[in-house]
Amino acid sequence: MYTHVLEERKNSIKTSDRDAAPIRCETASVSGAVSQRACVYCGARVVLNPITDAFHIVHGPIGCASYTWDIRGSLSSGSELYRNSFSTDLQEKDVVFGGAKKLTSAIDEVMNVYAPKLIFVYATCIAGVIGDDVEAVCREAERKYGSRVIPVKAPGFSGNKSTGYRMACDALMQLLLPHREQAAADGVNILGDYNLAGEMWIIKNYMKEIGVPVISTFTGDASYDRLLGAPSARLNVVQCAGSMIYLAERMEMEFGIPWIKASFFGIEDTTTAIRQIADLTGSPETRRKAEAFTRRESERATALTAPYHKSLAGKKAAIFVGGGFKAISLVRQFREMGMETVLVGTQTGKADEYEVLGKLVSPGTVILDDANPAELEKFMREKGADILVGGVKERPLAYKLGIAFCDHNHERKHALAGYEGVENFAREVNLSVNSPVWHYARG
Ligand code: SF4
Repeated sequence: MYTHVLEERKNSIKTSDRDAAPIRCETASVSGAVSQRACVYCGARVVLNPITDAFHIVHGPIGCASYTWDIRGSLSSGSELYRNSFSTDLQEKDVVFGGAKKLTSAIDEVMNVYAPKLIFVYATCIAGVIGDDVEAVCREAERKYGSRVIPVKAPGFSGNKSTGYRMACDALMQLLLPHREQAAADGVNILGDYNLAGEMWIIKNYMKEIGVPVISTFTGDASYDRLLGAPSARLNVVQCAGSMIYLAERMEMEFGIPWIKASFFGIEDTTTAIRQIADLTGSPETRRKAEAFTRRESERATALTAPYHKSLAGKKAAIFVGGGFKAISLVRQFREMGMETVLVGTQTGKADEYEVLGKLVSPGTVILDDANPAELEKFMREKGADILVGGVKERPLAYKLGIAFCDHNHERKHALAGYEGVENFAREVNLSVNSPVWHYARG
């Protein structure tokens, strides 16, 4: 049925109205299939990197550090220290004789120069293979300096990007657990927003509009001191479900904080998210404010995007993003813009998210888990996609095929969340899809 696709990959691909069996997902990538997923270490780093005053020491070869240096376009309202990357730069000699001493020296140097309150130490592939006792080095450094030095044992080969997310969440819990005894505060934590192009600030403004205080943010524009208040919140709002549901579950177990998923992409989902948060506060005044605010902003966003509908109507979209929850919002958002989704895939989507996607998309839409470039190319050509929405690894593929592209990942420069993001997204998609360059590129 799916020709020119590796036999072992066939169960990870389905067509919405044709294949009744659930898609194969939440499993290791097929060896040799050239997965688009990042490694375990990268998954952990992208979650922790936006903490603005944290230091990141990468215990491994210099390549691991350079691969993830300033990896997210996360913005900060304060410190810019997180934009640095430190490495022990392991060499052959260290592989033979061990790298623990080098790691101790690196921590000493960072402490002597910057005296930070928080350091994350990542053990990458080589450190995992040679077996340096990274935990012991971090423990000793905490004792010596009184700062938090948290190990993140994330060799790239020990799973996939989702494993890295969990390791980052475990590291955050190590930070929070000693601060569990706090009086409950009237406010929420926002999880899984990384303040790309200032999106966390947009969401915080919405919370201010409806009178809901934000206590901590994970991890966009976070700081060590602000994170420590998180156990006092009455609700966790999870935006990027793929990276942060695990943290929300652990916080519910340890601190008794309930959580909800809330997407701020597209008019429909943003409105639902704000109203849902207001409902859960139990305050009639907050509900009233949320109702009035979302009605006003939805109308404004609808009016601002209306001029694009004519030039976007009938265009076909392909989506390949990190998590399933975002993919669901994007399908809805394209529908709001009069466009049809013909292909949708994710790196780390979950079974329940694929089930929702299967019901949401039009008949004949191709759904893929953990796709590779060859599959994306084949199905985008077959389905006649006009634009691909993805991340940095998908961009060259789209351009080589002469297909428009919209970056919905770390590198985006315009906010795509909230009502503000709705207009930015429509404008960017319209500019890209209707650019005359594609006529020349496709010959
Ligand atoms: S796969 Fe291993 S060597 Fe490569 S970046 Fe990830 S941790 Fe470093």
